[in-house]
Amino acid sequence: MKRKPDKPQAQVMRRVPDGPYTLTVEVARDRRLRTSARWTLHGETIRVRVPARVRSDQLEKLLDDIVARVLKQRSRSRQRHDGDLEQRASQLNRAYFDGELRWHTIRWVGNMTKRLGSCTYGGTTDGDIRISSRISDWPAYVVDYVIAHELAHRQFPNHSPDFWDYLARYPHTERARGFIDGFAYAQGDDPDSLI
Ligand SMILES: [Zn+2]
Repeated sequence: MKRKPDKPQAQVMRRVPDGPYTLTVEVARDRRLRTSARWTLHGETIRVRVPARVRSDQLEKLLDDIVARVLKQRSRSRQRHDGDLEQRASQLNRAYFDGELRWHTIRWVGNMTKRLGSCTYGGTTDGDIRISSRISDWPAYVVDYVIAHELAHRQFPNHSPDFWDYLARYPHTERARGFIDGFAYAQGDDPDSLI
């Protein structure tokens, strides 16, 4: 892989306890940024990029704000998480993905009108997986597929060939995709947009 020559060097600035987790805040001063900061959350790491010349008091205030937002959202997600679904996801992770996948919460939601599942990436909800309660009475191998699909997005956020290769570790992938293709076809949807 080619490395960008001016990739900013990240420095760990804070470690913040968050329930059973510890969040790490990494800060990189980035000469390409002029006025505003950028940040993303990946697992338990908040990656912040700030303009090179930001003052240290401004930086502390900025980090306070970002950390507060992340903590608030994560606490909200954990209040809504679902123990059974969590256990099912852990089993799939152990059985097919060598236990290597990490997420924050997983829960059933009743407000997904189209999608069957989703996994967020990068913001305050990074690693929060939602499964539509519409599919709760679908065949178990399909529900497990939807869970495995969203889990696999922790490794590959898009539908790249690498993602499909990886997801094929779940043994009922082809059959479950056929089921979802049929479901999507019947309502005129692209199956890849549902999951
Ligand atoms: Zn997907």
